[in-house]
Amino acid sequence: MAEEKDWKAKYFDSLKQLEDMETTWYKLEKLLRRAISRLAITAKGFDSQLDQVLQKIQQHSRDSDNDALSADLDQLSTLLIKLDDVPNPASADVQNETSSIHTFLLQLIDQLRIDTDHKARMEALTTAIPQLDRDQCLQQFADILNQLLLHEPEDIVTAQNVLITLIEKITLTHGNTPELDVIQEKLGKTFDINEWGDYLDQIISEIHVIIRGINNEKVELESLIIDVTRQLNEISNVLTDEHNDTEEGRLESRRLQTLMQENVDSIQTKVDQETDLQRLKASISNNLNSIKTGVTAFIAKDNARYQKAELRNNSLQQQIKFMEQESDQLQQKLTENRQKLMFDTLTGVRSRLAYDELLDQELTRWSRYQDTFSFAILDIDHFKRVNDVFGHNAGDKALQVVANMLARHIRKTDLLFRIGGEEFVLLLPKTSLENATPLVEKIRNSVTDANFRFKQEKVDITLSAGLTAILAGDNCETIYERADSALYQAKNAGRNQLIVKIS
Ligand code: GH3
Ligand code: MG
Ligand code: MG
Repeated sequence: MAEEKDWKAKYFDSLKQLEDMETTWYKLEKLLRRAISRLAITAKGFDSQLDQVLQKIQQHSRDSDNDALSADLDQLSTLLIKLDDVPNPASADVQNETSSIHTFLLQLIDQLRIDTDHKARMEALTTAIPQLDRDQCLQQFADILNQLLLHEPEDIVTAQNVLITLIEKITLTHGNTPELDVIQEKLGKTFDINEWGDYLDQIISEIHVIIRGINNEKVELESLIIDVTRQLNEISNVLTDEHNDTEEGRLESRRLQTLMQENVDSIQTKVDQETDLQRLKASISNNLNSIKTGVTAFIAKDNARYQKAELRNNSLQQQIKFMEQESDQLQQKLTENRQKLMFDTLTGVRSRLAYDELLDQELTRWSRYQDTFSFAILDIDHFKRVNDVFGHNAGDKALQVVANMLARHIRKTDLLFRIGGEEFVLLLPKTSLENATPLVEKIRNSVTDANFRFKQEKVDITLSAGLTAILAGDNCETIYERADSALYQAKNAGRNQLIVKIS
């Protein structure tokens, strides 16, 4: 009997052991399946091949197809080894996403400090999170919540409340999703404590989706900001380009460009560094305000400068107008004076100034037509004596009379000049020496024959003259010198006569 009892006891013991083992295995299997499911959620999007394998693992795990699951796990381990060797091109994105997850989870944890017990755990997680990578982070978060619930595993209401609070916080800060709606609805009705792990997985998966959304939003915001900053730079260039014509304008332009550059740089740095969208928006708004203030001030100063410049411009224009009028008047006076200077004030015949100008013109004309042209110098003999004997006034009077007599004998096309005290030049265009000689003689004789009297006293006035014709290659000096040397000969030969010099 005792043997039978022993045998039974042994039998029951082994049965109990088997049961325990079954329970343990069942628990272990459940844990493994959950771990696989969580792994699939957290690794999703990392690599498309990995996604496929994980999907198969989830499926086969649900179907309890152990053979297929074993094959899947082999494939997974090969793939993971391969992935370890390949540099991950999306590592920057993953890093960004990780920092977003950090921020997001820290916010959530902050909001989930439920009581003093949990607070300590949450604080531990808060310190740990920044050092964790994305997957560790999500895993830790799940574990902490897990522990929170296991703390009072029988308390369905606590688990339910924690999950509801979590969803509420997520939807409050980051909006709702249809999936969260479904979970929320399920949680609101009945809640099986054994399913909390699945709910938690789903919630973590939703957090994942939201974080991806935040990242997308950030990428969009970044490209928008890059576009805005490019446009700001263009505005800055357009605004400042036109104002480089004054020192003040250049200074203001440089000031505005520096301000714009500083703010644009600051925006770009913040876009790169800031992980919190709200803070990013606020600081960009600050930068934009600063730019707005700078541009407004620039435009105001520009307007002031423009008005000042316009006033100065008006006053300058008035000054220019006034100066133009003055210049016109001066010009007129100058022309009048010049006209006056072209004639000798004492005798009324053309002056020395007119001689210099007109002889040059006549020679130019002659060189074009190669016509005949005669040139004579007539000088009053011993005129000094006239002055000495009869006085200067008598001399002046004599000069006027002689000039009148000369003028009376010439044609309109001939030109008579008083080029010195008592020395006259006669230009005779289109006149040959043959024709000029009798004309000069006639003039000379008319003076000699004139009966000059001053205060009833007879005054003898005679003229000596030198005559020549133009030669090829002559200029103002050469033609004068030839006629002057003829005059010199006439003086030397006893005065009151004409000497003609051909060459
Ligand atoms: P010559 O026969 O050698 O020409 O002797 P000249 O006395 O005529 O010549 P000279 O050059 O020695 O003197 C010219 C004089 O003419 C000197 C000056 O007193 C006089 N004279 C020059 N211009 C004027 C003038 O405008 N009015 C008066 N009254 N005399 C003048
Ligand atoms: Mg003389
Ligand atoms: Mg003389």
